[in-house]
Amino acid sequence: MSNVMIIGAGGVGSVVAHKCAQVPEVFSEIVLASRTVSKCDAIAAQLPRPVITEAVDADNVPQTVALLRKHRPDLVINVALPYQDLHIMDACLEAGVNYLDTANYEPPDKAKFEYKWQWAYHDRFKQAGLMALLGSGFDPGVTSVFCTYAQKHFVPNIEEIDIIDCNAGDHGQPFATNFNPEINIREVTARGRFWKDGEWVETDPLSVKSPFTLPDDLGKLNIYLMYHEELESLAKHIPGLKRASFWMSFSDNYLKHLEVLGNVGMTRIDPVRYNGVDIIPLKFLKALLPDPASLGPLTKGKTCIGCQVKGLGSDGKPATVFIYNVCDHEACYAEVRSQAISYTTGVPAMIGAKMMLTGKWSGAGVFNMEQFDPDPFMDDLNRYGLPWQVLKQPVFQPPAMP
Ligand code: NDP
Repeated sequence: MSNVMIIGAGGVGSVVAHKCAQVPEVFSEIVLASRTVSKCDAIAAQLPRPVITEAVDADNVPQTVALLRKHRPDLVINVALPYQDLHIMDACLEAGVNYLDTANYEPPDKAKFEYKWQWAYHDRFKQAGLMALLGSGFDPGVTSVFCTYAQKHFVPNIEEIDIIDCNAGDHGQPFATNFNPEINIREVTARGRFWKDGEWVETDPLSVKSPFTLPDDLGKLNIYLMYHEELESLAKHIPGLKRASFWMSFSDNYLKHLEVLGNVGMTRIDPVRYNGVDIIPLKFLKALLPDPASLGPLTKGKTCIGCQVKGLGSDGKPATVFIYNVCDHEACYAEVRSQAISYTTGVPAMIGAKMMLTGKWSGAGVFNMEQFDPDPFMDDLNRYGLPWQVLKQPVFQPPAMP
C-alpha cells in the first residue's frame, strides 16, 4: 500500500492515472498534480476511484516541495516535460521522496538530451537513501528491459542492438505528433547518432533510411536512423556492445510537413522578436497543432516497437532474437481514452513505479532500466496490457551506415 504523486496531466499522465487507479493494492492513494489543475480534474472524472488533484508549477522547487510535504507520497511519477526533470529531482531530494520519469532532461534553450545531468544526481540520491528510476516509458524504458531479457534468456553476449519503433496507425490529421509536439519535433530534427566500436557516430537528421517489414502482417514501413536516449545507457551498461542504433518509422506526409516547417523557420527554438514580443517559433507551432491527447478517438491501426538483439548464445554460437509488442490504438482508447503512444508510455511508467514500491527493483541512487532483473517487469507487461512476443530469427538487416 503506497501513495504516489503523478506530476503532469497530458496524454501520458492520463494513462498513468488510469493504470495506477486499476491497481489499488499497490497505489492506495493517488495525487495527480499539474500546471493546469482543470486537466487533472478532467482525468480524475474518468477514473474508477477518487484521486486528489492539485495545481503545481514543477519548475518552482519550493512549491513542489511544499506539495510533497503536504501529501507525503512514497514516489513521484514525473510525466510532465523533460525540462522539469531536474527541478522535480531537486524537490524529491529535499522532501525525501523517490523519483521516476519517462524522458531524460533537456535544457529548454538547446535541443540536446543526455543522461549526464541526471546521472550527476546519483551520489545525492544514494546519500539520501532514495531511488530514482530514469526512462520508464516504452522507448526509453521497455526497450532496455527487452534487451536485458534477451541477454538473460537468449543472447548472454550481446554484440548488436537495433531498436525499431514503428507506428502503423493513422490519426487522419494533415499533421500532428503523437506526444508533446515541441519535444517530438526537437527529437526528430536532431542529428542522428549510433554506437559503433566504442564511440558515437553522427549522421545528418533522418539521412539514413531503410524499409522494414513489420511482424504479424502489419505491413512495410520506412524506418529512419535517429538518436535516442536509451542508446546512451545501454552502451554504458551492456559490456561488449559493439553496435547499437535506433530506428523510427515516419510517413512521407509527416516528413514533408516537417521539412517545410523547418525550411520556413517554424521549428526554431531561439526567440524571434515579433511586434515587441519574443516568440519561440516551435512553442507557437505547438499552440497551433492538435493536442496529442485529442488524437485518442481519431487514431486507428497499430504500433509495433521491438528490439533486435544479436550476439552469441550460451553455446557460443551466433544468436539473434527480436522481442516486440504490438499495441492497438483503438483498443487503448476503449480502455483508457488515449491512443497507443500515450498508452505504451504510461503503462511502463506504472509498472516501473510498481517495481519500486513493491521492492522488486530497489537501490539507493539514480538508475536506468537495464540495471534491474527484467523478468518481473516482463511479467507485468503481459498482465497490464502490453503483451510481447519473441522471434528467434533476424527480422532486420541494417543498411550500410557511415
Ligand atoms: P503533454 O504535453 O501532453 O503533457 C505534459 C503535461 O505536463 C501537461 O499536463 C503540462 O501542463 C504539464 N507541465 C508542463 N510543464 C509543467 C510544469 N512546469 N509544472 C507542472 N506541469 C507541467 O506531454 P505527453 O503527455 O505527451 O508527454 C509527457 C512526457 O512523456 C514527456 O516528457 C515526453 O517526453 C514523455 N514521453 C516518453 C515516451 C517514452 O516512451 N519514454 C514516449 C512519449 C512521451 P499543461 O497542461 O498546463 O501544459
